[in-house]
Amino acid sequence: MLNKSSIHQLAIFGGCPLFSDYRSTSNLVRPDFDIFLSYSKLLYDVNDDPSNTSLVNLLEKRLASFHQTAFCISFCNGFWGLVLTMRCLALKGKTEIVMPSLTYRRMADIAAWAKLTPHFCEVDSETLAVSAAAIAPCLNNNTALILGVHPIINCCDVTGLVAFANEKKIPLLFDSVESVYESYQGVKIGSFGNAECFSMHASKLVNGFESGYVTTNDANLAAKLLRLRNDGIDSQDRGIYFGIDANLNEIHAAMALASLDDLDAQVEKNRHRYNLYKNSLSSIPGIQLQEFDETESCSFKNIVVQLLDDWPLSRSDTLTVLNEEHILARAYYSPPLHKKKYSYPVIAPELPLTDKLSERFVLLPCGHFVSDDDIESIIAMLRFLQTNASDISKQLRSL
Ligand SMILES: *Cc1c(COP(=O)(O)O)cnc(C)c1O
Repeated sequence: MLNKSSIHQLAIFGGCPLFSDYRSTSNLVRPDFDIFLSYSKLLYDVNDDPSNTSLVNLLEKRLASFHQTAFCISFCNGFWGLVLTMRCLALKGKTEIVMPSLTYRRMADIAAWAKLTPHFCEVDSETLAVSAAAIAPCLNNNTALILGVHPIINCCDVTGLVAFANEKKIPLLFDSVESVYESYQGVKIGSFGNAECFSMHASKLVNGFESGYVTTNDANLAAKLLRLRNDGIDSQDRGIYFGIDANLNEIHAAMALASLDDLDAQVEKNRHRYNLYKNSLSSIPGIQLQEFDETESCSFKNIVVQLLDDWPLSRSDTLTVLNEEHILARAYYSPPLHKKKYSYPVIAPELPLTDKLSERFVLLPCGHFVSDDDIESIIAMLRFLQTNASDISKQLRSL
């Protein structure tokens, strides 16, 4: 449990850290090694053309069925899956992509690689996600594409976004990286809008070392993406698109398949960790867990808390103290994208709600390497911070 009785025992003030190893906010799940090997062994068993990507095909079929979509196209990572899909979907002759500012730190770079100009918009204060109302003020006659990004707890208003995009006749791409396991009104995420993008980086729910994929019901888009990720070359070796080698490799596909085999069991473990946090956090004043909507299918992976007005430390002090204890708590999507400097054009209006929200949320350790005891210790640490906040603040200012 907590190895501190006075603030001088905090690691930031020279004490021994609560954990000897770091506790992180990444999933880092490792599927059963033998299952990974048994998939990998299939690569040696095929006698025909070794470039006949068997595990990649198997994985794509499996993911299409998991998401209940007609097509799944895999990529070397989520980044290039997003870039290439943006390039395909953007309306010809138009250059702006509307995206939330409170989101994944590389999203503007992804748009820039797709030769689009990010136009940052607000989020909804309830879902912390982009909504039709948040996007509306950013539309103009140069809008090429709308990017709906699911937040890391629950989903954005999919129905609202789809109706809005249809009405405005603007293509809609979802970044569904954080919602791979979720459902929306009972329908699995994956088949909404023109396409949805996912990542299987080791830090995400499904670990494919590093990999990504796109799901869609649009056969033309699927065929185009297949060529684009293969250097833009078609089956007759004609270079007909401006593509890139963004193919997924077989060994990463083996890892992803092994992770998928274990997914439901992992989600159960996540649910257990989430409930431990939920039960204990409710007794600490000033801190509030972002709850999963359990009427839908949920991954229970991420643990996000809001520091309320009566939480007695600043967020930055809170993070500094926790990080020194080797609790790698992180600020939620901060700084927001409209506050960053870029070497390419962006459209960054004033976004007061995003400014405010980006100061309030914290991710706490989650995933495979966080035990029940760890969660108890983390909670005890938060309670200690809450109780001793004014002394900690004073001591921090005197460092
Ligand atoms: C991680 C992430 C990506 C990028 O995925 P990679 O596979 O790491 O390139 C895109 N969007 C969101 C929301 C992410 O969290």
